[in-house]
Amino acid sequence: MYVHVPFCAHRCDYCAFATWDDRSGLADEYVAAVRREIGAAVDAGLPVATSVFFGGGTPSRLTAEQLTSILEVVPRAAGAEVSVECNPEDADADRLAAWRRAGVTRVSFGVQSMVPAVLASLGRRHSPEAVPRAVEAAAEAGLGGSYSVDLIFGAVGESIEDWDRSVQSVLALDPPPAHVSGYGLIAEPGTPLGADPARHPEADNQADEYELLDETLEAAGYSWYEISNWARPGAACRHNQLYWAQGEYRGFGCAAHSHEVRPDATARRWWNVRTPERYLRCMAEGTGPVGGAEILGADQRATEALELAVRTVSGVALADLPDGAERELEMLVGLGLVELFAAGADPLTAHRGPRLRLTRRGRLLASEVTLHLLGPSGQWSGGSRSRSPT
Ligand code: SF4
Repeated sequence: MYVHVPFCAHRCDYCAFATWDDRSGLADEYVAAVRREIGAAVDAGLPVATSVFFGGGTPSRLTAEQLTSILEVVPRAAGAEVSVECNPEDADADRLAAWRRAGVTRVSFGVQSMVPAVLASLGRRHSPEAVPRAVEAAAEAGLGGSYSVDLIFGAVGESIEDWDRSVQSVLALDPPPAHVSGYGLIAEPGTPLGADPARHPEADNQADEYELLDETLEAAGYSWYEISNWARPGAACRHNQLYWAQGEYRGFGCAAHSHEVRPDATARRWWNVRTPERYLRCMAEGTGPVGGAEILGADQRATEALELAVRTVSGVALADLPDGAERELEMLVGLGLVELFAAGADPLTAHRGPRLRLTRRGRLLASEVTLHLLGPSGQWSGGSRSRSPT
């Protein structure tokens, strides 16, 4: 289950998410509506959640009582992972202790950088000093062993030394994070950053920063498990792994997406209306908050499966490539972008035989590798996977 919280204290210059910095006055009404939406889904037979993710926006803009009152109505499986995204400045010990008592198992801190000038160039308002205080609060609340940090690389004016300082500072936190996400900055259309070409990230700098991040994290005992995600053993985010495996999920709150696999191997994806006001109106009028839906055919699902799986350390079974991909594969291996490996003992994947995964260099060109594997159309065009009942 995903719960969207569309409130932020301030809008960062690069952000294109469905979030607002002038609507926190709606929070009480919004929380009540989300509780009603979840309640209706439970009445309609919603299965228990194996993972719950509070994202946004900034979930820590809700009071501890507001957030935990949503979690109260979420039916959860035993041992469910419950993650909450948190602004470091919101992380006081009382709030995190209340989350922990309510069942939160992971906190994800939006750190982005540990260098003040870089934070300023991203339009972030928190200071690096807030981060060790947040980690201390997490440790006090019993979440010190499972927290994650988000970092962003590629801000204009960020030198490779600045980036190294950010990564080293994060690894020096006490305790260090169990999980790190590192995202390349994107100049999204419609954002202040997008409208300012002088601040657009430079691809070669970002590639250098990515390689530095990966080398540093590997040396510190973290392993990559998806292009933008590294974890200590056992600390991978199960919720995100479910997305990458095309699992079923339900989103609640405005702009939240849901996905359901149908018996004929097609799937339905739908999403709620985008703004909190429309969401509240739909919930008040009893019309339901769904804003749109699409059916994903078997070929579209196979295309998406390849796009998602290529980005993970488990990679793709050679048996699941489209027809005619062999020659491209040979070329990609020759260029050092892709490596082949034996299936291993994982019962979920072993039966599919040998697999491919991206090398570090290949991870810099993941979209291009995927296009080569898919062939000239860039879409699934027939192959073993679309014929097999997966
Ligand atoms: S805190 Fe996160 S969600 Fe909020 S504006 Fe900044 S990037 Fe967007």
